[in-house]
Parts: sequence; structure tokens; C-alpha cells
Amino acid sequence: MTHSTLAGAPFVATQNNALYLEGVELAALARTHGTPLFVYSKAAMLSALAAYQRGFAGRNARICYAMKANSSLAVLQVFAQAGCGFDIVSGGELQRVIVAGGDAAKVIFSGVGKTRTEMRQALEAGIACFNVESEAELEVLSEVAQSMGQRAPVSIRVNPNVDAKTHPYISTGLKGNKFGVAHERALQTYQRAASLPGLEVRGIDCHIGSQITESTPYLDAMDRVLDLVQAIEAAGIEIHHIDFGGGLGINYNGDTPPAADALWAQLLAKLDARGYGQRQLMIEPGRSLVGNAGVCLTEVLYLKPGEQKNFCIVDAAMNDLPRPAMYEAFHQIVPLAQRSGEAVTYDVVGPICESGDWLGRDRSLIVQTGDVLAVLSTGAYCMAMASNYNTRGRAAEILVDGDKAHVIRRRESFADQIACEALVR
Ligand SMILES: *Cc1c(COP(=O)(O)O)cnc(C)c1O
Repeated sequence: MTHSTLAGAPFVATQNNALYLEGVELAALARTHGTPLFVYSKAAMLSALAAYQRGFAGRNARICYAMKANSSLAVLQVFAQAGCGFDIVSGGELQRVIVAGGDAAKVIFSGVGKTRTEMRQALEAGIACFNVESEAELEVLSEVAQSMGQRAPVSIRVNPNVDAKTHPYISTGLKGNKFGVAHERALQTYQRAASLPGLEVRGIDCHIGSQITESTPYLDAMDRVLDLVQAIEAAGIEIHHIDFGGGLGINYNGDTPPAADALWAQLLAKLDARGYGQRQLMIEPGRSLVGNAGVCLTEVLYLKPGEQKNFCIVDAAMNDLPRPAMYEAFHQIVPLAQRSGEAVTYDVVGPICESGDWLGRDRSLIVQTGDVLAVLSTGAYCMAMASNYNTRGRAAEILVDGDKAHVIRRRESFADQIACEALVR
């Protein structure tokens, strides 16, 4: 089998004019399970994880999968079995970790708006650390922990004010963002945390954005964070672990982010040079562990030629694949079978009643009605953001492992969709 050179699909290969994910033919999956259909490669996930593991060989480091990227239970199971911890952003995500067989003691809890109920739930489960994002949250967490006779382990998310050079909606480390505590206020906030009876200061963390394709923002952020560690420890507050967040980009369309091991070689060299190489390290990668492991299969419903544009109308839509509508994101779109003939330029769009419902613009394709297309690099922030808009049931999901294909989520039925609703009586 020859591995294809498709950007963003490292485990997709062509054999006899058919596309395979690992040992499974994608067209056969579409026939058996219908479309739209998400298909993930376990080997691709483990290979992405292995790059981080190589990077951290011999170090005291924990990889916490930022599960909001793809929180399907069987995906969590893959990472739990590989020894990962999890970065969660809600009580619901914590419950998913536990159902999937993950270890609550390896969970860190991020997010600007944790509720008291979620704090209590996380304390009961015995998570490793709360990444606290404001002074107000510190006060509430201390109160909640005290009421349970506990001390909550905390790290404070600091905002290093570096430009991650990514889409404004997924850039989180600049002063104008809602995330974290300003660099200038960090020491003060740590002193407050150390004085509160329900808290135990454990670490420091930052997360500067997502789909970052350069090393420089990470190196800059690391310098800023280490400056703070120095200042906080000089004030007598010990920092046990340093958490550098997630955000490493993937190849969607010829993007060239550094490989995880190469990035960490650079970052560890800096840590060593500044004397922090033996600290406990944590990271929270999401997209870079799952993004290129998934494809979404969708059938061509209609071809609609137009005066200005030709439309290729498919059965997947913005409720399945929200990234183009939300961030004008690019996903490669490739037909499962190569046809001969003349390519036509299409906008690939879904059936939803919104002009924002497009999956790809100005794509050159040779397709006919009934053909199946693969939308690539759809393992992250696709199914996890899917909705029922237009009363569309969410897609099914398949996990491929070698030549085996496991259904990990059945297609959502109409009954599933209305299960929580009631008529007025
Ligand atoms: C979303 C998020 C991550 C993961 O980001 P990726 O770009 O998917 O790696 C990590 N940490 C925090 C706090 C986040 O909000």
C-alpha cells in the first residue's frame, strides 16, 4: 500500500483507485453505515501521541489530552489506555473521562466559568489540579473546598501576552482575551491564592491559542512564564509543576507546524538553560492529537451549475462540520474514487438554510451525484461541536484499528433528538 501525500491525512492511502484508512476501505464504510460518517484512525492518534512521548523521554512530564477537541468515549478510551491524563472544561467532560476508564487523578480542570457544582464534583473525584482563571474564581473555589473539608489543588492560568499568530477566535494569550490572569497581576494573585485556607498552590499554567504553526510564540510564552515562576518562588510560594497548555497546529492545507518532538526539543533546551528542566511538566494538546486522525465521509446529493458559481451539494453540513462557518477554516475535500474527465470548480455546500453552510469554496473536483467525498483533518473540533440545527441527527462515528472498523457512535435518530422535549399539556 502506498501512503498518499494528502495533506492532513497521514493514514489515508490509495489502493486500486480506492481510499483506505489504515486497512479499511472508506467507500465500504460509507455503504455499510451511511453518510455523513466520521471515521478515525487509532494508529494516527497513537502516532501523534508518540511524537510528544518521544519529545518528553526521560522527563517528568504528563500529557493531558484536551478532550474538548473530540470527546467521544472511544477516543478518550484510546488515550486513557495509552496512559494520558485529560484536560477538561466542564463537569460533563469529567464524567466522560470516568465512563471511558480514565483516571480522575490525572485530570486538570480548565475554563473561565466553573460552577460551584462542577468544583464540588471535581473535588469529590480527586482531580489533579484546577487551572484557575480569575481572582473571583479562587475565592469561590476556596470556599467550596473548605465546605468539603478539603484543600483544592490549584494552578493559575497566566496570560503571557504573546501573539500566537492564529485566528482571532482561537488566540487566547493576548491582553484583550477573556482567559487567564494578566502577567502583571500574577504574583499578587498567587499571594492571594496562598493565603486562602481552601487552596493549595501546585503549579502555573498558560495556553496561548490554537492551530499555532510556529515555535516562537511558545518560546516567548515560556520565557514569560519562567520569569513568573522565579518571582513567585522568590516570594516564598513553591511551584511544583509547569503546564504549557496545548495549541500546536496541524497540517490542514500545507501548513507546516513544527513536529511535537522537535518543538519540545527546543522548549526543553530553554527549560534546561534556565534551570527548570527537572520540574514536573504538563501539556494539554487537543487538536494535534486527533485532528489529522479523522475524515468525514459525505455523499454528493446534487450538482447545481450557476451563473457565478457551481454548487456541489452534499449531505454533510455546518451542523456536522462547523469549522468553515465559524472560522472560515479550510478542510481538504477529496473524492473516494478518481474519475476521469474535466474538473469543475465548485463550492461544496450542505443542505442547511444558511449561506454560511459551506464546507469548501472554489474546489476543483471531478464528481457525479452519488459519489462520496472525504473531508480531511476532521478529527478535532468537528463532531465535538456538532449540533442538531435543522433537526439533523448527528453523524455516526467509526474507529478504525488495523483492518477492523468499530462503530463507536450510532447515527442519532429522530427519537434521540426529541427525547428531552415535551408538548404543553
Ligand atoms: C482548547 C484548549 C486546549 C487545547 O487546544 P488545542 O489547540 O486543541 O491543542 C488546551 N488547553 C486549554 C486551556 C484549552 O482551552
